[in-house]
Amino acid sequence: MPQDVLQDILVRRGFLCPSYEVYGGVSGFYDYAPLGGMLKRNIENLWRRFFVVEEGFFEVDTPTIAPEQVFVASGHVENFADPVVSCRKCGTTYRADHFLQEKLGAENLSPEPEVLQRLIEERGVRCNCGGELGEVRRSSLMFSTTIGAGGRRGYLRPETAQGMFVMFPRLYSFYRKKLPFGVVQIGRAYRNEISPRQGLLRLREFTQAEAEIFVDPEEKRVHPGFGRYAGERLRLVPRSGEVLELSAKEAVERGILPHEFLAYYMAHTRRFLMEVGIPGERIRFRQHLKDEMAHYAEDCWDAEVLTKRYGWVEVVGIADRTDYDLRAHESLSGVEMRAFRQFREAVTKRVMRLVPNMQVLGPEFRGLAPRIAEAVEKLPEEAAEEFERTGRVEVDVEGEKVVLGERHLRVERVELRQTGEKFTPHVIEPSFGIDRILYAVLECALAEREGKRVLRLRPQVAPVKAAVFPLVSREELEEVALEVFREIKSQGMPAVYDASDSIGRRYARVDEIGVPFAVTVDFESLENGTVTLRHRDTAEQVRVGAKEVPGLIRRLCEGMSWDELREKLAAAP
Ligand code: AMP
Repeated sequence: MPQDVLQDILVRRGFLCPSYEVYGGVSGFYDYAPLGGMLKRNIENLWRRFFVVEEGFFEVDTPTIAPEQVFVASGHVENFADPVVSCRKCGTTYRADHFLQEKLGAENLSPEPEVLQRLIEERGVRCNCGGELGEVRRSSLMFSTTIGAGGRRGYLRPETAQGMFVMFPRLYSFYRKKLPFGVVQIGRAYRNEISPRQGLLRLREFTQAEAEIFVDPEEKRVHPGFGRYAGERLRLVPRSGEVLELSAKEAVERGILPHEFLAYYMAHTRRFLMEVGIPGERIRFRQHLKDEMAHYAEDCWDAEVLTKRYGWVEVVGIADRTDYDLRAHESLSGVEMRAFRQFREAVTKRVMRLVPNMQVLGPEFRGLAPRIAEAVEKLPEEAAEEFERTGRVEVDVEGEKVVLGERHLRVERVELRQTGEKFTPHVIEPSFGIDRILYAVLECALAEREGKRVLRLRPQVAPVKAAVFPLVSREELEEVALEVFREIKSQGMPAVYDASDSIGRRYARVDEIGVPFAVTVDFESLENGTVTLRHRDTAEQVRVGAKEVPGLIRRLCEGMSWDELREKLAAAP
């Protein structure tokens, strides 16, 4: 089947179209309209089943615009950029690593500008127009904006994650100060991609579904529910480039995957991708090369899907972000982003601390004295050590620095019983690109039967669950058909009703948009109250009671297979 058939069906039958078409379109933006919007929502809802319901991670929803500090702390202002190069003659700007990959037939080139510059010089690469290429430079991927009339700088978020990191102190108390816990968010992210030309794969505005799992680094090796996935086979492409087929357990034992937490979420991701309709044999996990990894990651594996059109495509990134983000936000905001770890047994430690001498502080600092005393009590042990050496210490009180000396303070040595300690949690993050998954789902679903196109979307994700047809347009038949149609909808399933054209044409129309089941009311229905129920993938039909059919379709959409339905009917009296 030619590659553009999919694009043709998707646009013609109302799954998606380029945004702002009437103004000539803007690349990197797509509308899901109107069936695509429902398909996308169903994929997101299935994701919620995997991450919110099964994993117990609550869903948050944070703004898409954030003030500059958030992305200064996260490192995006400094690091989130792609290498670009412009032609000195025609002025076209390219994403340098992608352009060179195309030109040289290379794969996974380093994004480092110096490496790419050297390649251009060594291999004499020129622009498509024949012109000479300029210097390779870095161009920020973030859209900037201003907040309010005062012009405070802000950015459109390039990932949903930061909104969840900055609320860590609230999340920690919500989860009653127990790790591990997770939160998720499904929402828009924005990246000012340099030359997006791959349809849904490279958008400037796209939807991410991200889970942030906060875990004690000392407990990362063991995931409490790992048993569920220990035997799950994963196809892995580690940095060495070899392709391995291993169980999740073997992969951790052999050190290919760093710990059970990462392995668990890779297996969970694979199950989700299969559930939305991507066959297992088209899924692999590729480890990021060292210089390909995001600035925050210690290890990252991409779930990739083999597509006919674009080859292997990254659809999910599963990263160990360590304590990078929480530390960064703590350091810039001054707000503690730590958790508490209980020791198995309490330990007794001798510590030094500073004790304020109120008889001197009071008369000297008057109203400020109690606040100075409070600030002194919060100083770390190192400040007491320093005081012992130098005889002075500085405290910050209401934005003012106050220098204190030996007449204000004394050092005291005490024995402290410690029951635990504070630490910065690590974060494991599976980050799903919903648009890329939607593309892969559609590509995998497209099939042909007897010269006609069938979109074999799984019933769970299909936008429309059932079609209802009167065999011919006669009032008695329509009356029964409309009743079945109403009942299907009242059970919560979007359905369509169609009484025009031949029955063959009507089946073909709904096959092409992926409606999994069709109900036809014929003359026999008037005699014995049965209707035909047709399965889109095989065109097989069974006769069932008109009253039972909505419930049966609901069960088929919830996971009952067509074979199970046949067995059930055969067993019925
Ligand atoms: P990343 O943070 O780059 O690992 O992105 C996480 C996921 O978001 C990727 O696995 C992709 O599925 C998706 N994604 C990233 N950039 C884009 C884009 N420009 N257009 C569509 N999806 C994207």
